[in-house]
Order: sequence, then structure tokens, then C-alpha cells
Amino acid sequence: MTRHVPALVVGGGISGLVCAYALRKAGIDAQLVEASPRPGGVINSVTRDGFLLELGPQSFSGTPALRELCVELGISKELLQAPPRAPRYVLIDGKLRRVPMSPPAFFMSSLIDGSAKWALVRDILWKSIPPDGDESVAAFVRRKFSAQLLDRLVGPFVSGIYAGDPERLSLRSAFPQIYEAEKAEGSVVRGMLRLAKSKKGPRERPTLLTFREGNETLVRALANNLGPALLTESSVTGISRQNDGSFAIDLQSHGQDESVSASSLILATPTDVTGALLSRLDASFETLFNSIEYAAVAVVSLGYRKKDVGHSLNGFGFLVPRSAGLRVLGSVWNSSLFPGRAPEGHALLTSFVGGATDSAAAALEPQELVNLVHREISPVLSVKSAPVFSSVTVWPRALPQYNLGYGGRLARIDQLRAQFPGLWLAGNYLRGPAIGSCVDQASAVAEEVRERRQ
Ligand SMILES: Cc1cc2nc3c(=O)[nH]c(=O)nc-3n(C[C@H](O)[C@H](O)[C@H](O)COP(=O)(O)OP(=O)(O)OC[C@H]3O[C@@H](n4cnc5c(N)ncnc54)[C@H](O)[C@@H]3O)c2cc1C
Repeated sequence: MTRHVPALVVGGGISGLVCAYALRKAGIDAQLVEASPRPGGVINSVTRDGFLLELGPQSFSGTPALRELCVELGISKELLQAPPRAPRYVLIDGKLRRVPMSPPAFFMSSLIDGSAKWALVRDILWKSIPPDGDESVAAFVRRKFSAQLLDRLVGPFVSGIYAGDPERLSLRSAFPQIYEAEKAEGSVVRGMLRLAKSKKGPRERPTLLTFREGNETLVRALANNLGPALLTESSVTGISRQNDGSFAIDLQSHGQDESVSASSLILATPTDVTGALLSRLDASFETLFNSIEYAAVAVVSLGYRKKDVGHSLNGFGFLVPRSAGLRVLGSVWNSSLFPGRAPEGHALLTSFVGGATDSAAAALEPQELVNLVHREISPVLSVKSAPVFSSVTVWPRALPQYNLGYGGRLARIDQLRAQFPGLWLAGNYLRGPAIGSCVDQASAVAEEVRERRQ
């Protein structure tokens, strides 16, 4: 027998959870199906041997919508904020150098030579005209500033957000605010200032957040709110369209085959799954979705006795320019940022290996990854002994790459999707990979579904 639901959300990562939550808040009886036994997707907090590990994202930016969501779910008191002034470092010539976090610090910093500083002055005083076509982040930084700035600061930050390759990432798609600023004013600085002024509400310094018991608190609160409307161990295996315009969905739930029909269908699955599921509606979906590349990332958390680490670990962590020749992309000092991440007298450091510029790294065995990370970070942090704890998680499709031509690809997907009224898409490949961007995008989709149903 076929069960009918007004709205079915597929995929219980943060995008699907927020979308289902927002739909139900709007009075729509939405159901959410998640293939795995636990919701949350890549957000996964685990406690092992007294260490609180984040197997995926380590923390998130406190966007207004995310903070509001925490209030609604009653978990605001659980939020922890990283020390806003914690220094961030970049590894240059084997030494950690402080990243300048303000314009005066940028001009005073010895990290960047005079030509990049002069280029910034030029950006403020003059106008430049961006090229008509899509421009890579690397080409943009070289055109406007300098190759050194790209290598030492921009490249490492790009790998911190996208695990991406700045030579291939599209400025327009990956950093739309910077692109818009440059386009509107012919100056990144003036454009960004104009944007900041146009924003309503009090200006908040961006801070990184997590919860006392890890990022998964948000997932658990959303799941609790959804209650029986969330079905785990339930995988969608096929989608077709019925004569009345609704969708027929094949579901495998706890090993049983089931048929569901839905008037509104929201796919919040990774792009390979989404393309395959929609291929019965139109084969072009699969080709288009398959053209979205992902970077693989290995997340390696190591625990050390504090007395075995020579560095003070006072700060956020460090990023590694590709020119340094290491395979570690960066390291977050979890136990310096948030309490309760490591047992007394211990430090927890999480490093990332792989990304778009080193896809082979994620194919290494867990012990090889532990050895590699320990070998590469030990001289930087004056570590004197082997780690007392380790955890490795490899994400073969960690982060979608907003590479050159991405805007066109998304536009074609949207044109095709529009041929199937009632079909919607949510996920980290649409408006940015950050958790806050997923929340914004999923909430916007829920609003569109609500408007269409009125
Ligand atoms: C290693 C790593 C580090 C990161 N670091 C940060 C960070 O520091 N800060 C930050 O803001 N963001 C970070 N991110 C990005 C952010 O965590 C993700 O972009 C976001 O959580 C993705 O959520 P999602 O719901 O779109 O997708 P996913 O989390 O991938 O969820 C998709 C869900 O769909 C389910 N699914 C798949 N197929 C089916 C099917 N057929 N039927 C039903 N369900 C299905 C999957 O099981 C999964 O639960 C990081 C990501 C990774 C991987």
C-alpha cells in the first residue's frame, strides 16, 4: 500500500533536518527519511577515552539564523564560543607566524611584503575592472594583490574552508560577497565596507561556536523536535512522477520495501545520490550532478600529554601553505578553544589531510595517516612523544568544490528542476558548505515550499 505524505525530505544531514523542521513549524506535515541509523550526516561528535571528538566539522560560525534556531530549540545555553581573539597561525619556513586579523595588523605584519600592502592601498584608492568570465580565486588574488598573498594567506584559508584548489575554485561561486564587492565598487575593501554598512542589526564580530557536548547537540535537538516525523535507516532507492504531478518514492525502511507518494519532495542528499535518484525523471540530472566535484578529506585527531608539547598551544591552530611541502592542510587546537575536549593534562589537536590538491592522501591507511600527521606537526609544535590517543575519519566526498563554471552548472540544474513542480533541492553544494549556509539555504527552501502550497 502507498502511504501519502504532503512533503517528504530525503537526507537527514543538517540541511534536511532544518528543512523538515522549518516545514513542520510552518504547519506542513513533513516527514524526513535518513539512510543511516543516526541523523546528522557529516556532523558527528563522539566521546572516546575522555576525548570529545568532532569527526566532521570542528565548529561553526554563529550566523543570525543559526543562533535563532538554537533559541527556538532551547539549546542556546549549551553553546560555547571560541575565544574571539585567539591567534591563528600560518606555517612559514618551518615556523608559526601569526595571521594578521585586522587592517592595521595587516600593514604591520612581516608575513606579507610591501607589494601586497601597496596593492591593498591601490584597491582602496582606485578602481579595477573584473574580467567578464568566471575568474579563479588564484587569478583574482594575483591580479589584484600578489602571488605571495595567495601562497601565504589566501591559499591556506581556501583550504581551511573548501579543502579546495584556489587555481580551480571560482571566486564568483565560492566567495560571492568578495566578487560582488569588487564588481560593485571596483574595490574589494570599499565594496565590503558598503556591504557591512547595508546590513541591519548590531554588528557582531564573527565567532566560532560549538556546544558543550559537541556539534551534534544541534542535530539531536532537531531530531528530538521532529520525533516520529524522522525515520532513520530509511533509504530512498527510486523516484518517479505520477500522473497527478505528485512523486512516487521507493523507500527501503529497516529492510522493508515501502512506497510513499509526496506532493512536495525535497532532496537534501549529496549530489551523487541526488543525480542517481532523479535520473528516472530526466537522465540529464545525473550528468549535471556528476559534474560537481568533491574533495576528499581525512580528519586526524591526536591526543598528547600537555607536558610532551613544547608549544603553548595558545590559539586557534595553524594552516599550511602548499609551498611548505607538507601534506597536513591545517591543525585545529580543539582543547585550547573549548573546555571538555581532552582529559586533564592532555591536549587534543585535529589535523586535516587531503583536499583537492592531494586526493591520494585520503586513500592512506589510518595508521599511516596518524604517523604522517604526528611526523609533520611534531617539529612545528615541539612535540616530544608519540600521541597517547588517535582517531581517523576519512570522508571520500567531504566538500563540494565550487570550481570554475559552477554558477552555470547550478543554473542548468535549477532550470531542469523547475520542469518538475514540487521538486526542491537542499544541501551544501547550493549556497556554501558552512553549516550556517546550509541552515540558511534549507530554511529558504522550506519557505518556497510553503509559498507554493498556499
Ligand atoms: C571534514 C569536514 C569538515 C568540515 N568543517 C566545517 C566547519 O568547521 N564549519 C562548518 O560550518 N562546516 C564544516 N564542514 C561542512 C559542513 O559540515 C557540511 O557542509 C554540512 O554539514 C553538510 O550538510 P548536508 O545536510 O548538506 O549534507 P550531509 O551531512 O552529507 O547529509 C546528507 C545526508 O543524506 C543521507 N542520505 C544519502 N543518501 C540517502 C538516501 N538515498 N536516502 C536517505 N538519506 C540519504 C546521508 O546519510 C546524510 O545523512 C565540514 C565538512 C567536513 C566533511
